[in-house]
Amino acid sequence: MNLIFLGPPGAGKGTQAKKILDLLKVPQISTGEIFRAAVKAGTELGKKAKTYMDKGDLVPDEVVVGIVAERLTEPDCKNGFLLDGFPRTIPQADALGKVLTKRGNKLDHVICLEVPDGELMKRLTGRRVCKKCGEEYHVMFKAPAKAGVCNKCGGEVYQRSDDNEESIGRRLTEYHKQTKPLIAYYGERGLVRAIDGLGAFDEVFDRIKAALR
Ligand code: ADP
Ligand code: ADP
Ligand code: ZN
Repeated sequence: MNLIFLGPPGAGKGTQAKKILDLLKVPQISTGEIFRAAVKAGTELGKKAKTYMDKGDLVPDEVVVGIVAERLTEPDCKNGFLLDGFPRTIPQADALGKVLTKRGNKLDHVICLEVPDGELMKRLTGRRVCKKCGEEYHVMFKAPAKAGVCNKCGGEVYQRSDDNEESIGRRLTEYHKQTKPLIAYYGERGLVRAIDGLGAFDEVFDRIKAALR
């Protein structure tokens, strides 16, 4: 199954993607996580991406598209993939369409997680992430059992440097300007599954499972 998780920053894409993986046995491809790994490794890509990420700007399309196109050729994508945080612009969506057509593939569903901006600010300012495995936590809504330690892998749970109010505000503006038009784009293609992203983690998960059936 070939899936896209679409939604504003903080909608729960990463959280829900990780829950769905066990079910579908396809890899989660998170462009944000790929960039954070490159920043940590100090690669050229990381250095380039960091300047955009810290401000809350989008990394240029040609950089992102190349990375995803390459990632999709890896053997684990043979039976499908879950794209989390890509595409984020119309040119990215067009480029993805071309890559898939070339492979004789098509998208099955675009899961659109809907959450109002006020709630997103609360989710993002309180977000914490495991440095090792990427599991998402929240200081109020999903605190790790032991403060600062990942329940899953024991890794260090930290706050992303771009999860500050200024960068979050900018990311929300960019979402409305550049990414939200993708809902109409995929809507025209009959692929959009709109999911109410408010409520308990498992409630949202059940809605997604129902939409995939
Ligand atoms: P969030 O969880 O807030 O939605 P991500 O972890 O998906 O954020 O992305 C972090 C940052 O990485 C973004 O603010 C942006 O700078 C960059 N990024 C990730 N995916 C893309 C993309 N598809 N296009 C452009 N920039 C991206
Ligand atoms: P995204 O990948 O869309 O940017 P995340 O999955 O990282 O979003 O979630 C953002 C923050 O909101 C995290 O701290 C996460 O624990 C929290 N969160 C996710 N889903 C819910 C929910 N249904 N209710 C409350 N908080 C949530
Ligand atoms: Zn972990």
